[in-house]
Amino acid sequence: MHQPLRLTIDASALQSNWRWLQERAGVPAGAAVKANGYGLGARDALDALYDAGCRTFFVSTYAEATALGDVPEDSSVVVLHGPGPDDVQAALNSQARPVLNSPDQVARWKEIAPDRACDVMIDTGINRLGLRPEQSELLAGLSIDTLHSHLACGDENCPLNVMQLERFRAVVGAISAKRYALANSAGICLGRDYSFDLVRPGLSIYGGVPRAEAEGQIGQVARIEAQIVQRRTIHAGESCGYGATFTADEDTQAAILNIGYADGYLRGFSSRGMAFAGEITLPVIGRVSMDLIAVGCDAAPDLKEGDWVELDYALPDAAHQSGLSQYELLTTLGSRFARRWV
Ligand SMILES: *Cc1c(COP(=O)(O)O)cnc(C)c1O
Repeated sequence: MHQPLRLTIDASALQSNWRWLQERAGVPAGAAVKANGYGLGARDALDALYDAGCRTFFVSTYAEATALGDVPEDSSVVVLHGPGPDDVQAALNSQARPVLNSPDQVARWKEIAPDRACDVMIDTGINRLGLRPEQSELLAGLSIDTLHSHLACGDENCPLNVMQLERFRAVVGAISAKRYALANSAGICLGRDYSFDLVRPGLSIYGGVPRAEAEGQIGQVARIEAQIVQRRTIHAGESCGYGATFTADEDTQAAILNIGYADGYLRGFSSRGMAFAGEITLPVIGRVSMDLIAVGCDAAPDLKEGDWVELDYALPDAAHQSGLSQYELLTTLGSRFARRWV
């Protein structure tokens, strides 16, 4: 069935973003493919990143690990949320390595698979998941592959970054593991002090720019386009859309596009989003509806019903327009897009 909106995912941009991150880090890079590959397709992302050389893939849950299917033998899937009380069977059936985050998870792993390799999360300041450093004696006897910690504000210049780095260095000295990992995308930007043995980028692989250091280095991966349902003239003095938030000063040409907040094009783009017809920029006018938006198209006299218009979804720009985070922009994209990897 024809879909009047499409999401095009550029696999070579994804790969070159990942390569830039790995080069910048100077150590092997894994890839977060949780949340269905940040909304773009976890399995397709995994395959493209494997071809680029990535061998470690991070998901949130065993359900996500299972959904990935079999992965090549020389690569591993790591489950960030670890084995919960309802994951015992899945964990035993899965090749994926858990991250043990709490005393409960450590005890559970020791009971069900004491000899199998695991990862461990140590909290150094985010207070989300992870053992406190002083709980490390619980880890005795485990076979730890990678010991992780996670930055709370890598995307900002915040004293907590250096504090977490120093705490993690102390952890590295105190707990033995095959490898140590601290940095997400933003952490990679902070510099090689944060690299340790492995980095865990997510956002920037998919086109996100968390810090100035990545500007100009990270390419757009996801592009969205919608088809025009109708072209119309809004007469001077008339409004357009719910709430009548836009009123035309003069006669204004508008194209009504087949996309709305049900597709993840959220209301923050109302009168702030941009679209492109080739080189011509078209402003979103009025409020985003569930299934439709209007863009002003005085500058594009030839645009007509059935033509495709690209929305400005370069993540830093779209975040600025909408007030949403770059993470939200990716992960809220809806299910009505025809998805194409190119
Ligand atoms: C999601 C996640 C990442 C990836 O973070 P980005 O900010 O998307 O690069 C890395 N590590 C952990 C523990 C995560 O939960």
